[in-house]
Amino acid sequence: MKIERIEHIGIAVSNLEEAISFYEKVLNLTCYAIEEVTDQKVKTAFFKVGETKIELLESTDPEGPIGKFIEKKGEGIHHIAFAVDDIDLALKETESKGVRLIDQIPRKGAEGLKIGFLHPKNTLGVLTEFCSNK
Ligand code: ZN
Repeated sequence: MKIERIEHIGIAVSNLEEAISFYEKVLNLTCYAIEEVTDQKVKTAFFKVGETKIELLESTDPEGPIGKFIEKKGEGIHHIAFAVDDIDLALKETESKGVRLIDQIPRKGAEGLKIGFLHPKNTLGVLTEFCSNK
């Protein structure tokens, strides 16, 4: 497995409109896509920062993963996503090194990417995502 770059940083927000406004008006970034990922019960907004993106995540359901995260920890950095050359291989290799996976099999994420999460208990408290367009 080869990690190519930080694909995005996921940030949990309680109000997507207000968060977009902060990133656009204060940080002068441009939101280029808003997408709902029903699987994960989130609405996402994307900003490009060089090769890396910021992914804002607002929960569409208090029982969804982002809803629960905000209830427990408040708004803030939720996960870091690495672009990998081959996601199936990356997940298998990571599991073979003793790391628990949230996703045994990649699922469909925003922007048509294949994504898979590692368990934060095994990744020093940082929820880690792999993603790939293959
Ligand atoms: Zn993500």
